[in-house]
Amino acid sequence: MKKIFWWIRELLFPRRCPVCDNPVNPAGKKICISCRSKLKYVPEEHCMKCGKPLLQENEEYCAECRQREHEFIQGKSLYEYESAAASIYRFKYAKRREYAEFFGEELSERFRDIIKEWDADALIPIPIHETRKRKRGYNQAELLAEQLGKRLDIPVESKLLVRCRKTTPQKELNAVQRQNNLKKAFKISKNDVKLSTIIVIDDIYTTGSTVDEATRILKRAGIEKVYVLTLAIGNI
Ligand SMILES: [Zn+2]
Ligand SMILES: [Zn+2]
Repeated sequence: MKKIFWWIRELLFPRRCPVCDNPVNPAGKKICISCRSKLKYVPEEHCMKCGKPLLQENEEYCAECRQREHEFIQGKSLYEYESAAASIYRFKYAKRREYAEFFGEELSERFRDIIKEWDADALIPIPIHETRKRKRGYNQAELLAEQLGKRLDIPVESKLLVRCRKTTPQKELNAVQRQNNLKKAFKISKNDVKLSTIIVIDDIYTTGSTVDEATRILKRAGIEKVYVLTLAIGNI
């Protein structure tokens, strides 16, 4: 019986592949077998601080992290940006919220051990402004956090950190503008924060300005340790 419902649902609303956006082939999987290799994982040689792929072997930190301190302790990211860019674009702007299940599974499988080590009390998605969320229908970072939290049994706190100002999309700005753009962008929604270690979840990491600013606000509210997990990383 369950199988019949599944088939009807698959016929009416086939699950789309996060890479090619066609109904997944074969049906029942979360991604086409032939599309699987198009998403490139960040290699083992990545920055110890932010998780960005390193241009030269034997380096510990990327050029940016050698120059600039970050507010967070450590960050990891799943895919190299270019390989996932089109997919993340649809995930964000073309109502493909269904991709979250695949991405959440990927994040949980790839980072299970390090997440255990981080030993976080909660996952905190980077919020988007309320009007933007209403228009889009969801916050993609929140969907990722929910999928990951469900799989690894970590609570998701999606209401604690709030976006109080609608900011220009970071991708349209340079590094200095990005930092200014985020001033007073976030606030904490309650006075009594009981968390001490958290993981910030976002879709894309570029310069780290967004997660740094969010971390600053979270630390000011009493959170001691902040780690960062993102779906894709790169220079945009
Ligand atoms: Zn595909
Ligand atoms: Zn780095």
